[in-house]
Amino acid sequence: MYFLYLLNLILNSIFLLLIYIIIMVSDKKEKYKCPECESESIRFKFKVKNKDENSAYANVTEEMQCSTCFMDIPANVFVINKSSNIEENKTIWHSFYKPEHIKKAAQCSKCNLYYWDIEKQLSVKNIISSDIFYQTFNSKGGGGKMICRLCDPNAFINNKQ
Ligand SMILES: [Zn+2]
Ligand SMILES: [Zn+2]
Repeated sequence: MYFLYLLNLILNSIFLLLIYIIIMVSDKKEKYKCPECESESIRFKFKVKNKDENSAYANVTEEMQCSTCFMDIPANVFVINKSSNIEENKTIWHSFYKPEHIKKAAQCSKCNLYYWDIEKQLSVKNIISSDIFYQTFNSKGGGGKMICRLCDPNAFINNKQ
């Protein structure tokens, strides 16, 4: 009987330990809330480096692309933790980061759409890809124009994604 009691105790301990591990693991998983559209999922995250010290992005080291609005957004206003405030994140994004982001964002010179609108429209057609622009060549040696995948889908026909 004592043996059974001991076995029971050990099994209970293992069970509690498992619960503890599950809680620890789920706690470490990052939570997100997009300050643009309130989506809670991302497509991917990526490291960035901004050499311009006067830029709003000077201290941004990581960005994530939202899986709903397709905008690239600094991680510090996208990741949710104990000290984050969603309303504050939205304000920072809209007044501080977004104006600069729009200035530098890739835009089609034909339809004038920005990359996030292009990626959104492509996703409706089941094309999930970051390969959405090509640059035309300028015979005078200057920078060519950016043409998007919506305006010239045939140019991307060999690209599966
Ligand atoms: Zn979003
Ligand atoms: Zn276009």
